[in-house]
Amino acid sequence: QAKRRGKNQYCLYNEHLERELLRRMELEKDLRIALARDQFVVHYQPKWDAAVNRAIGVEALLRWNHPILGRISPEEFIPIAEETGLIVPITRWVLGQACRDCFEWNEDRTEPLSVSVNMSVCVFDSKNLEDMVVSALLHSGLDATLLELEITETIVMHNVEDVVEQLKSIREIGVQISMDDFGAGYSALGSIDLIPFQTLKIDKLYMQQSDSPSKRAIIHTIIMLAKQLNLEVIAEGVETEQQMAFLQSAGCSMMQGYYFSKPISRADLDLWLQQSMFVNGRHTSQSLIG
Ligand code: C2E
Ligand code: MG
Ligand code: MG
Ligand code: MG
Repeated sequence: QAKRRGKNQYCLYNEHLERELLRRMELEKDLRIALARDQFVVHYQPKWDAAVNRAIGVEALLRWNHPILGRISPEEFIPIAEETGLIVPITRWVLGQACRDCFEWNEDRTEPLSVSVNMSVCVFDSKNLEDMVVSALLHSGLDATLLELEITETIVMHNVEDVVEQLKSIREIGVQISMDDFGAGYSALGSIDLIPFQTLKIDKLYMQQSDSPSKRAIIHTIIMLAKQLNLEVIAEGVETEQQMAFLQSAGCSMMQGYYFSKPISRADLDLWLQQSMFVNGRHTSQSLIG
């Protein structure tokens, strides 16, 4: 009996692995034609500055609408795009789209709004990130200081000298650099001051556990670290008014999270931006969108 059950479990496990593998192969095949078939959309999530009560920028987050499987999460397809090298043309496309949209938002605004784009290791390995950035800026007409690249510690650790060198030339154009998901991986504090970035993004895992006294202590410490290093600091994953109040009292006024808005389409963001100018302070995605 036990033996039979063991065998059944083994079969189930096997079937599960096989399904996963098939799905992965299918996604990989479909990802190759997704760009050409216009299946990608860039969504945007606002970054809020509670010190001035307005959106100061947005983060571009890629969405893939698969014709049969529907919306696939970036957590699933970005790793495949990275392993296959497809992330390079995809990033070029996201940069182009984000710069064009951001140029248009800034045409009818008095306060500047920046846009950030997420980077992968392969994009640095491809050695043409700088060209990609310059071309996106030229084609869109966007002011370089309104574009920000989000890098991670993993990217930097992969090849510190080369990444730092590429970042330095990109900085010379005026483009901003931020360190995404700070505190989520192995923070190599020993070389943090060698990396030319201006903004530190506190990983959302700290907000998710901000009831824990030790996590709050770490949040305080990261904010202090940023101040000491003359860096801007922004908290990701802010979902409640309490979290917003805590951050403000801790000296971090810039935040991003579902409390303000989920990542939304370009059209919804246009609306959100208009409406957010009339609503002061209190923000819920419900009150503004749908
Ligand atoms: P990320 O850059 O750290 O982006 C933040 C992620 O947290 C996004 O997930 C966003 O939707 C989610 N998020 C924002 N606010 C909240 C909140 O209040 N609560 C919770 N629980 N989550 C929140 P998303 O859009 O699924 O993207 C996941 C990751 O995929 C991104 O993490 C980024 O690493 C990667 N990614 C997305 N778009 C691109 C892209 O164009 N290029 C590259 N290389 N990576 C991308
Ligand atoms: Mg990011
Ligand atoms: Mg992040
Ligand atoms: Mg991430």
